[in-house]
Amino acid sequence: MLPEALPEEDQKLVSGVLARQARAIARTITLIESTRPDHQERAQAVLEALLPHTGNGIRVGISGVPGGGKSTFIEALGLYLIGEGHRVAVLAVDPSSSVTGGSILGDKTRMERLCQEKDAYIRPSPSAGSLGGVADRTREAMLVCEAAGFDVIIVETVGVGQSETAVAGMVDAFVLLQLPNAGDDLQAIKKGIVEMADLVVFNKTDLDPIAAQLAIQQMKGALSMLRAHSARWQPPVLGLSALKGLGVKEFWAEIERFRQVMGDTGELWKKRQHQSLAWMWTLIDMGLRTHFRQHPGVQGSLPAARHDEQIFSVSVRHDSWR
Ligand code: GDP
Repeated sequence: MLPEALPEEDQKLVSGVLARQARAIARTITLIESTRPDHQERAQAVLEALLPHTGNGIRVGISGVPGGGKSTFIEALGLYLIGEGHRVAVLAVDPSSSVTGGSILGDKTRMERLCQEKDAYIRPSPSAGSLGGVADRTREAMLVCEAAGFDVIIVETVGVGQSETAVAGMVDAFVLLQLPNAGDDLQAIKKGIVEMADLVVFNKTDLDPIAAQLAIQQMKGALSMLRAHSARWQPPVLGLSALKGLGVKEFWAEIERFRQVMGDTGELWKKRQHQSLAWMWTLIDMGLRTHFRQHPGVQGSLPAARHDEQIFSVSVRHDSWR
């Protein structure tokens, strides 16, 4: 849709985003995150107008346990990249915010130095809806950031299962941030998260360099036994100290190499195509569900259905006690 076909208010959003105005970017993402049906309709039209300007960024997902040093690392990485002439957007998928309204990622006080940079944009996590919904809004927010000329988009999430799959499904490179000695590397291997990683990093290597080396070697061994998802890319394992800024440059060199290798072979393009298709189906699913729930007949019978469901589950529990 051409921007001229949009109502004036939304035309302003589109031209503001393209002119890289932080306020327009924030307002557009807020519109996208709104669950109001009229807002959703407007958001889709605005996105459609922005779509031709998207796709030029490199999309990097970073996942790790709370306290692993993600925000310290992203801040160090963001500042380094800005120094190299990049423009960096950071978005978060926080599964806790969709369940409890709280936030494991604790957005407000994080990345204070990066926040002040004019070439950085940091968006706190959306706070409503199902995880799928939150993640899809993040995907759309990512497109808005690309249209606003950010060439590096970092999507951060906490390592609690479902959110990692969602983030891995929207980025070019998925990075697993681990701690040496924490045992979470074994957890990640067991849960199949390591298989999704294009790069594994061990942070806080300054605390115990010997343990860090051991963890890196063990992870390399484990990765060599797993089937790599690309014949041309064996996920590298790196050590970092986000606090001291060590390993940041080397990390980015690996991301650039990944982009080069996967870009040259056309795999990155295929991956994005595949992700767009999966996203389309998710949108259709979400649309159908909303349509179903809003149907007057369904709305009339939902309370009774929920009541019956509760009685059913209570009676099942009673039966299992007998
Ligand atoms: P997040 O919850 O994963 O975002 O973790 P944070 O970035 O908030 O870091 C949690 C704590 O670990 C903070 O006190 C950081 O200062 C500290 N930290 C982060 N990276 C490092 C590191 O490389 N070395 C050390 N020693 N501490 C770190």
